[in-house]
Amino acid sequence: MKTLSQALEQLLGQAQADGLPAHEQVSLAAGLGRFLAEDICSPIDVPAYDNSQMDGYAGIAVEMNNALAPLPISQRIPAGHPGQPLKEGSVARIFTGAPIPSGANAVIMQEQVELLEDGKALKCLAPVRPGQNIRPAGGDLRQGQVVLQKGRCLSAADLGLSASVGLTELAVYRPLRVAVFSSGDELRQPGESLGFGQIYDSNRPMILHLVRGMGFEARDMGCLPDRLDATRQALAQASAENEVILTCGGVSVGEEDHIKAAISAEGKLELWKISIKPGKPFAFGRVGQATFLGMPGNPVAAWVTFNLLIRPYLQKRAGGEATRAKGLWIHAGFDWPRPDPRQEFLRGWIDEDGLVQIHDRQNSSVLSSVTECNGLVEIPAGTSVAKGDRLRFIPYSELLS
Ligand code: AMP
Ligand code: MG
Repeated sequence: MKTLSQALEQLLGQAQADGLPAHEQVSLAAGLGRFLAEDICSPIDVPAYDNSQMDGYAGIAVEMNNALAPLPISQRIPAGHPGQPLKEGSVARIFTGAPIPSGANAVIMQEQVELLEDGKALKCLAPVRPGQNIRPAGGDLRQGQVVLQKGRCLSAADLGLSASVGLTELAVYRPLRVAVFSSGDELRQPGESLGFGQIYDSNRPMILHLVRGMGFEARDMGCLPDRLDATRQALAQASAENEVILTCGGVSVGEEDHIKAAISAEGKLELWKISIKPGKPFAFGRVGQATFLGMPGNPVAAWVTFNLLIRPYLQKRAGGEATRAKGLWIHAGFDWPRPDPRQEFLRGWIDEDGLVQIHDRQNSSVLSSVTECNGLVEIPAGTSVAKGDRLRFIPYSELLS
């Protein structure tokens, strides 16, 4: 058996060896969720000029502090309008974001002055420090500075930042093409009627959405029948058009598990036993140019192995950083007296008292245990848990981000 971290290291090593997708230029509007293919340097200082942080009055601090008579207001500078150099012995009316006139070195907020002479002059009511209320040029970003690093998965704020330095396009990796199959003669599709012994195919839509949620091109390849020849043919076809093939089911030890035989015949296969629960059987290999990753069939096992193993592989393969869930250390609100030799990932949540609770049905076929919880509770291998013990809780939001 492999530990989870051994399996992950091997997959990430494979992602590195498999190489990166080609680059393409996309507009900022199309950049969300894409992986940056090069470092972004700022072509400008942001802000490009010293500007006011307040609606107020710009002047020279020493004059504002020591004026014996009211200071005349010599100009008015709204945002977006360059002012004139400041006349000595005067102040300028200024608004938030407007450029500081040359000569001025401080802004006093409008609430801290008394207007005199019909609003044509003022007296400062508070001491003024040089630099006060001025946002300096380059205070956010410096020209030439790396502002976003290659491999970053672009967020809304990243795209705003790219706009703030004036970029219109970014170099990103082409989205991965990922073929998704389910497998098993017992599976029917929603809309079809269920005969005795049949169930609906829940994994395929779930996996397709997990892949799409990562910004990739997920191709729905349908359900593989439990027949070797048809399975071989479908996998070979998928390998011609996709960089990654994902399947679920058909990789355990029974003789009805045809994916193993099909991959062995068409390419290369390793069957792993990973020391996690759920998710022990996992298949890894290659068909033609495509990497093959086979999840177990039980829906919770498929969900867990996707998030803990396949997601980091896909992130790295797509040109990004593989994110590793850190989770939070929280006290258990339950007892778990039966240690399992495998590392377990129970579905649970944090209650109002800040304790971790677990779903009462932890069987790997119970998909409602995923939907009714909001995180995974890690139980280390061979460990029993008593109320009050500290455990790692991994919120789904951390896995899915
Ligand atoms: P297998 O690994 O093919 O033996 O599948 C293990 C269990 O997962 C069986 O109970 C299957 O019926 C179930 N299963 C496999 N694939 C799916 C799927 N796509 N949706 C729902 N259940 C599945
Ligand atoms: Mg099956």
